[in-house]
Amino acid sequence: MAGNIRLEVVTPDKSVVSDEAQTVVAPGAYGEFGVLPGHTSFLTTLKIGMLRYKDKTGSERIVFVSGGFAEVLPDKVTILAESAERRRDIDVERARAALRRAEERLAEARKREDLDFNRAQAALQRALARVKVAEAQRAG
Ligand code: ATP
Repeated sequence: MAGNIRLEVVTPDKSVVSDEAQTVVAPGAYGEFGVLPGHTSFLTTLKIGMLRYKDKTGSERIVFVSGGFAEVLPDKVTILAESAERRRDIDVERARAALRRAEERLAEARKREDLDFNRAQAALQRALARVKVAEAQRAG
């Protein structure tokens, strides 16, 4: 296999991951996609979910991404997301609290028109994905 992939995950405030990867698997808007070195270039939007990569030692790393964009080049993957956290940086209690809040809002939004159903649903998806990433078995 020819070299590694440079993986960059950035948000408006910070660089969350800047690492060498053997493989990257990301939650594309049209389904999960995997990248190996030498992949054809493409650009795609992402869903809220879990990005996984194998670092240069072969350990699997897991990162939450809140949607956004991915640019894939033969030797580089760049993820631009509103928010992203490595597994070890996720505050599970905060995610569980966000989940409860979003569930309450969704229940209310069914009765009240002034509440934004889509916004509550997106918050719910972020919270669920964070809990899933935080509870994933591998190192983050
Ligand atoms: P909350 O309602 O708890 O703020 P949210 O989904 O609305 O959750 P975001 O807008 O996605 O939060 O993120 C705002 C900032 O807070 C980002 O910097 C993000 O990385 C961070 N963040 C949000 N939730 C968590 C969490 N559970 N653990 C660690 N960092 C978090």
